[in-house]
Amino acid sequence: MKTEIIEEVVRKILAEMEDSKDNKFDYYDYGIFDDMDDAIEASNKAQRELFNMSIEQRGKLVDSMRAAILEPDNLETLSRKAVEETGIGKYEDKILKNKAAAENSPGIEDLTTWAKTGENGITIEEYCPFGVIGSITPTTNPTETIICNSIGMIAGGNSVVFSPHPRAKETSIMLITLLNKALEKVGAPRNLISMVREPSIENTNKMMKNNKIRLLVATGGPGIVNTVLSSGKKAIGAGAGNPPVVVDETADIEKAAKDIVDGSSFDNNVPCIAEKEVFVVREVFDKLILHMQKNGAYLLNDKEIIEKMDKMVSKDDGKPKVDYVGKDAKVILRDLGIDVPSNIKLIIFKANKEHHLVQEEMMMPILPIVCCDNVDKAIDYAYQAEHGNRHTAIMHSKNVDKLTKMAKLLECTIFVKNAPSYAGIGVGGEGFTTFTIAGPTGEGLTSARSFCRKRRCTMIDSFNIR
Ligand code: NAD
Repeated sequence: MKTEIIEEVVRKILAEMEDSKDNKFDYYDYGIFDDMDDAIEASNKAQRELFNMSIEQRGKLVDSMRAAILEPDNLETLSRKAVEETGIGKYEDKILKNKAAAENSPGIEDLTTWAKTGENGITIEEYCPFGVIGSITPTTNPTETIICNSIGMIAGGNSVVFSPHPRAKETSIMLITLLNKALEKVGAPRNLISMVREPSIENTNKMMKNNKIRLLVATGGPGIVNTVLSSGKKAIGAGAGNPPVVVDETADIEKAAKDIVDGSSFDNNVPCIAEKEVFVVREVFDKLILHMQKNGAYLLNDKEIIEKMDKMVSKDDGKPKVDYVGKDAKVILRDLGIDVPSNIKLIIFKANKEHHLVQEEMMMPILPIVCCDNVDKAIDYAYQAEHGNRHTAIMHSKNVDKLTKMAKLLECTIFVKNAPSYAGIGVGGEGFTTFTIAGPTGEGLTSARSFCRKRRCTMIDSFNIR
C-alpha cells in the first residue's frame, strides 16, 4: 500500500516537471539574459546564422511568430498580462492591437529589389540587414511594439535585443520567450530576440555603447529619442505626439462624433496616434458634443471639477501622473466623486485653446473640446497644439481645400480624414500596421525595409538582355 502511494506521488511530480518543460512561458534559456553584453553576444551569433539562411526560410520564421501571437490562448494571456503589469489600457483593445501587429506588420515581401539595366550592364539595390538592432520599447504599447519590431527586424535579416520599460518587464519576458520558442520550432537560430532579465536605464546605456549594436530604435517619449539620436550610432526615433482633431461645418457630425469617441478612448487614449484635443467650429459645436455624449462620452460642465481633475491627473511640472495614464474614464470620474454607468469611456469638457490639458500629451481618456470661430482658426490652433511633433492629426470635413490646408500646415507623419485615428495604422483603414512611427528621423510608419541598409551591386557589360 505504502509503495503504491509513493509511486503515485512520484508519478505526479514527474508529470508536473514534464508540464513545466512544455510551459510556453517558462523563460529559461529563451533569449533572457542576466547580462546585457551576453545578450548582445548571443544576438550577434544568431544574426550571423540568420544571414546564411534563405529568404524563404526567413519568411517561415516570420509566419511562426505571427501564428504564435494569434493563438487565442497566447493573445489573451499577453493582452491581460500587459494591462495587469503596467496598469495601462484596456484588455479588449490590447487584443485588437496585438492582433493587428501580428497579422498586419509587413514581412519579407517588404524587401523589394531595385534594378537598372542599360548599355553598361546591370545595377541592383537591395535591402540588407544592419546586424544586431537595439530596440527600446514603451510601457504604453509593450507587447505591440515588440511584436511588430520583431517581425520587421527579423524579416530584414537582423536579430534584436530589446530594452523594454522596467514596468513592462514580466510581460516582455513572457512575450520574448514565446516568440523564441515558436522560432525554435521552425529551425531558427537561438536568441534571435533577446533582453536582459532586469531592464534598466543603465542596461539601456550599456546597450547603446556596445559596438556590436549597429542600429538603435527608440519608441517612446522625447527623452529616449534624444538619447539615441546623440549616441553616435544610426538611430530611428519614434517619439511623442499630441494629435489634434479639427471638425468643420461640412463634416458628417454624427459620424465624426462617434469616430472621435472611438479613437480617443481606444486603449484608454495611450496610443501616440490617439485624438488628444478637438477644435470644432462654433456652428456645429453643440451638435458634436451632443452626439459624442450619445456615443459614450461624459460631459463635465463644472469649472471647479475640471480644475480639480486637471490637478489630480497632473504632476507639478504639468506632465501626466503615471497612476492615471491609460486608466478607465470611470476610474478617473470615480476619484472625482462621480459615478457613471459602464458605457462611459471618455471624459469631455469645453476648454479654451491654452488649457493645460489641450497642450500637454496626457494619454488618458480626457478630451478637451475647443470652440473656434471658423475652420481656419481651428486649423491654426491645431497646428499650435501639435507643437511641431509632425506626428498625427485628424480632420472631419468634406471641404477638400481645407483638408489639404491642414495636411500641408501640420506636415504630420499620419493624417487621418473622416475616420478614427487608428484607421491611420491599418485598423479599419488601408495600409499596414506598426507601433513604431518614426516622425523625428523620417522613416514614417516603420516596416522591414526601415530596419535595413540599402546596398548596391553592379555588373558591367552583362545581364542586359534587351
Ligand atoms: P518613456 O519615454 O518614458 O519610455 C520609453 C522607453 O525609453 C522605456 O523603455 C524607458 O525605460 C526608456 N527610457 C526613457 N528615458 C530613458 C533614458 N533617459 N535612458 C534610457 N532609457 C530611457 O515613454 P512611455 O511612457 O513608456 O511611452 C509613452 C511615450 O512614448 C509617449 O510620449 C508616446 O507618444 C510615445 N510613443 C511613441 C510611439 C511612436 O511610434 N512614435 C509609440 C508609442 C509611444
